Amino acid sequence: MTHEFVIPLFLGSRSPEEAKIALFGTCWDGTSSFKAGSRFAGYAVREASYGMEEFSFYQQESLLEIPFTDYGDLFLPPGQKERALSDIASAVNEIKSKGQFPIAFGGEHLLAYPLIMSAWETHKNLAVIHVDAHADIRPDLWDDPLTHATFLGRIGDQIGFENIKQFGIRSGSKEEWKIAKHFDTIRPFTIDALKSHIDSLGNRPIYLTLDMDVLDPSLYPGTGTPEPGGIFWDVLIEGLKLLRGKYLVGMDCLELSPHYDSTGVSAQAMAKTLREMIMIANTSAFQP
Ligand code: MN
Ligand code: MN
Repeated sequence: MTHEFVIPLFLGSRSPEEAKIALFGTCWDGTSSFKAGSRFAGYAVREASYGMEEFSFYQQESLLEIPFTDYGDLFLPPGQKERALSDIASAVNEIKSKGQFPIAFGGEHLLAYPLIMSAWETHKNLAVIHVDAHADIRPDLWDDPLTHATFLGRIGDQIGFENIKQFGIRSGSKEEWKIAKHFDTIRPFTIDALKSHIDSLGNRPIYLTLDMDVLDPSLYPGTGTPEPGGIFWDVLIEGLKLLRGKYLVGMDCLELSPHYDSTGVSAQAMAKTLREMIMIANTSAFQP
């Protein structure tokens, strides 16, 4: 056969056997509190990835030089929350058992819950960096304690809120505001605030959970919960670059509902962010 047949995985994806870093889609939207649709993120991001260069001007590296694989989307049946969460937990554990750095992307932010808990089970001194427009620490949403608007509260209940810092938050309930004030979790998304926090962590293992609705909705309308007043991509990437060389143990990049953005720029923003995150992961002294 002289022709090349392409399965549209993320730009630059290698075979799993060659990979130190594993990208995988977690695309499910069963607790989305306003507009659902992040179950469709996977294809949109991979398609968008072919519209960008493999070389990053920001980090002066090429995706083609980085040993990463895209496993595709994990099958997560709509409507089955417990199964979705437990399947993500077992998938990420399997990826880490191969010595691969996990980067999950796509669906609603609840899906970070099993990813962070998996990191914490291995690294009890875990520090969580949460980037989002929303606080996500409600005690419950409509009597459910485990949704995309509450999951970080359940993480805090278990790992301790003092091990969480939140950047870019501009929306939440009065109750969340009180919790955030009590535990001093919220910081602005500025280079100074991020640098001072990351420096304070020293060699602690870090998990980064990134809800892309931290971006201003004029740049990133492809979300079910757009929140005016956000940051722009250049600020996001300058902040994320501060994690280069740190002891990262896992990352996610979540909340893309591509159908709300007919221009496709939101999927492009997530693809470009993932390119940079793959490069940052490659600098981590990762131990599974
Ligand atoms: Mn969120
Ligand atoms: Mn959010």
